[in-house]
Amino acid sequence: MFTHICEICGEEFQSQSNRAKYCVYCRDKAQVLRNKAYREKKLAGLSVTVGSEQICPICSKPYTVTSGSQKCCKDCQKKQNSKRKINSNRQYTKENYDSILFYVPKGERETLKEYAKSRNMSVNKLIQTALEEYKGNHN
Ligand SMILES: [Zn+2]
Ligand SMILES: [Zn+2]
Repeated sequence: MFTHICEICGEEFQSQSNRAKYCVYCRDKAQVLRNKAYREKKLAGLSVTVGSEQICPICSKPYTVTSGSQKCCKDCQKKQNSKRKINSNRQYTKENYDSILFYVPKGERETLKEYAKSRNMSVNKLIQTALEEYKGNHN
C-alpha cells in the first residue's frame, strides 16, 4: 500500500497504486471534471463562436454564425442539404428499382397522369398496380 495526499481534498489516503492522485471519494469527481474539461476543449476546437462573422468556404461570402456546428453560410447549407437528400433518393431508387421506358399514344400521357392523380397514385404506382391486377387475372 502507498500513502498519497489527494489532489482534490488534500486528505491522506492509501492506494495499491503508487501513482494514485485522488482518494476514493474524489476519484469519481475527478473523472467528472476531466470529462467536462475534455468536452469543453473539444467543443471549443471544433466550433466557431456563435454570432461571429465567418467566410463561407463554398461561396466565399461572409456570414454570421448562428450555431456552433455551422460550417458554411445558410444558403450553401440549404443547398448542400437538398443536394444530399436528392442524391440519397437517387441512390435508393437506383439500388432498388429498374426503369422501363414505354410509349403511350399522343395525348395519353396527360390522361394517364390525371387518372393516376384522381386515384391518389403516381403514374408509376398506377402502372404497377395495373400489372399486378393483370397478372392476377391472366394466370
Ligand atoms: Zn480526496
Ligand atoms: Zn456560402
